Amino acid sequence: MATQKNSLQKYKKRRDFSQTPEPKKSSKKQPSKKPIFVIQEHAASHLHYDFRIQIGSVLKSWAVPKGITSQLGVKHLAVETEDHPLDYAQFEGVIPEGNYGAGTVMVWDIGTFTNIKTKDGKLVPLKECFKRGTIEIELDGKKLHGGYALIHTKLGDGRQWLLLKMKDKYANRRIPNQTKSALTGRTMKQIGTKGVGKEPKRQGKTSKKKVGTNKSSKKESDSTIKIGGHLVKLTNQDKVLYPKDGITKGNLIAYYKEVAPYMLPHMKNRAVTMHRFPDGIDHEGFYQKDASDFFPSWIKLIKIPKEGGSTAYVVCNNAETLVYLANLACITPHLWLSHITKLHYPDRMIFDFDPGKKS
Ligand code: MN
Repeated sequence: MATQKNSLQKYKKRRDFSQTPEPKKSSKKQPSKKPIFVIQEHAASHLHYDFRIQIGSVLKSWAVPKGITSQLGVKHLAVETEDHPLDYAQFEGVIPEGNYGAGTVMVWDIGTFTNIKTKDGKLVPLKECFKRGTIEIELDGKKLHGGYALIHTKLGDGRQWLLLKMKDKYANRRIPNQTKSALTGRTMKQIGTKGVGKEPKRQGKTSKKKVGTNKSSKKESDSTIKIGGHLVKLTNQDKVLYPKDGITKGNLIAYYKEVAPYMLPHMKNRAVTMHRFPDGIDHEGFYQKDASDFFPSWIKLIKIPKEGGSTAYVVCNNAETLVYLANLACITPHLWLSHITKLHYPDRMIFDFDPGKKS
């Protein structure tokens, strides 16, 4: 088990604190006598609510896509995420574009809680509750009150829990001020608008850096590289595509660039179906067959007829194309089993040792 100290490593690894206004660490070990909790509404690529409770000196965290309810009998999926520093409970603002979790964050509810999980008449310590996968706490927030339970499920990758309201006098009560911050009374929109001005200025075409300023250059998440005589524009390289391991789009691009000499012979002259994951592997990706109009002209395309028209597939014959696809978060390029010159004569066969449930 991770110790308290290094349990924030993942949190720190995912964030560039010269770019994001999120707190780097906690200023206090124990902000109040009672442990604290916070629920943050987070308009990232997908709107969700982050439910965080203090266990030890960190905030254990879950992402709850459907939010928190007071309705009895309603179970909401809560996906365990990385530990956050205690100071995060006070964080409200905008995580700038290109950063992990980019989007507006509102403190939807905040307060303290009491551990109420007992076994054989004795209180079970919180750390033990977490380890065993059954947490029962009584919230004393600005909006939420009473018992809530978090139950670990064995589903998926082991990060899935269920969050539910426990039976007490607060059950089924209407939750007040749902659209406003429990900390500042602002709406998401108000936080978003105010936050924009705080975002670090991006180096645009028109804002060339002033000569003579001493400030070290901010890490750019956009850049242009030259490969095979072509310029490839790389965007949002800090975007985390593998949240569990903190692998960014920049890492993916670097990987594909490195393996290109070994990979390209297997891709040569075969149509590619792009399997893209713009929000990372934890979110549903999509398949793209037809090349977009904005693809650079140096990318080789093959028009393959289909009923009522044709599809212009990418043919990835060089490293610059592979890197360009990686920049589109095309984590998995699927290759046709036939060569573009002999479309109806496949010369490869796939044995899928890990078929999907529907196969
Ligand atoms: Mn979040």
